[in-house]
Order: sequence, then structure tokens, then C-alpha cells
Amino acid sequence: MSKTPRSKAAARAATQMVVSEAAGQGKIAELVRQMLVHLGEDPGREGLRRTPERFEKALRFLTSGYRQDPDTILNGATFSVSYDEMVVVKDIEVYSVCEHHMLPFFGKCHVAYIPNKRVIGLSKIARLVNMYARRLQIQERLTSQIAHTLEEKLSPQGVGVIIEARHLCMVMRGVEKQNSAAMTSAMLGAFRTSKQTRDEFLSLIRGTQP
Ligand SMILES: [Zn+2]
Repeated sequence: MSKTPRSKAAARAATQMVVSEAAGQGKIAELVRQMLVHLGEDPGREGLRRTPERFEKALRFLTSGYRQDPDTILNGATFSVSYDEMVVVKDIEVYSVCEHHMLPFFGKCHVAYIPNKRVIGLSKIARLVNMYARRLQIQERLTSQIAHTLEEKLSPQGVGVIIEARHLCMVMRGVEKQNSAAMTSAMLGAFRTSKQTRDEFLSLIRGTQP
């Protein structure tokens, strides 16, 4: 099931997105130029002259996850094994953009699962995190999308995902104390039903003995 080639419909949708993106090239830069005027700035001054184009390029990169799908990332990267102990990938750096303020939030993501005869290349987990992070997000949805995708693609005995992140929309505006981080978790299967499994995951990401 994990080796299913990308469907024709998905490929077509991706092609349409690339086409419409190319057609819209420069549109965001133009809006940024107008925005700078509304902010009382002079978009023609030296330091800002190429800022609109730079911003568009950066924003398109930060939202490039819309143009990726999990099947392409995971295709051919799952393997049959008899291993059934917990697999943990901790401290995956995550950089995303909050959809309420379009400002960055960033931190660490910890992913664990207990295989059911099937594992995935470890680097693919980080790529999956990046794919969902490079979209306009809220931290809760990002956490849950990573967990549910792994559940769907690996059919494991359980999946746990924890994200600790700082949101610039909070810390820069002084809404919260400078060092406060938001924590979200998604626990599925054995991670939901067994406290022992959850505790093992937590102790592994903290680097302490259970
Ligand atoms: Zn926000």
C-alpha cells in the first residue's frame, strides 16, 4: 500500500498548482510594495527596492509544502522488518508560519512509533515534518497531521508526536513571556491506550531512564 504510485489526479492537481503559481509570479511582490506604502515606508528607497521580490520568494518557499504530498515523500521508503520496539526521532527542527498572524513559529518536534512489521527511513520523518510545516499552520493541526499521516502510511501499533514551539506572534508582541513555549501532542494507538508507552516516549525524548 505504501508503494502505491502517485495517483494521476494528484499529479494533475500538482501540475495545475505549479502553472497557477507561475502565472501569479510577482503578484505577491506587488502587494508587498503596496503594503510598504501603507506602512508609511518608501518602497523605492535603496534598502527596500528588492524587498518585495525577496519576500515573495521567501514566502513561496515557506509555503512550498502545499505543493508536496506524503505519497511522493514516502514512496518506496518503507521497509518490512520484524522489529517491534519503539522508534524515536527527537529534536527535529521545525519552522512554520502561524495562519492567524502569518508570523513564524519554531521549535522542536519529537516523533515516535511502534512498528507493525513496517518501518520508514528515518530521514523521511523529518521530510514529512517539513512538508506540513511549510504551510500556513496552527501548531495543533501540524502535530496531528504528522501523527495521522504516519498512522495511515505505516499502520503501526501506535504513533506519538510532540511539538514544543515558540510563536513570534506571541513573544514579539509581548503577549506571553519571552521564553514561553507552546506544547502540543498527538497520541494514537498504543500511545493513547498505554501510559507505559507514553512514559517511555517522554523519558526517551528527555534523555532520562523510564
Ligand atoms: Zn499567531
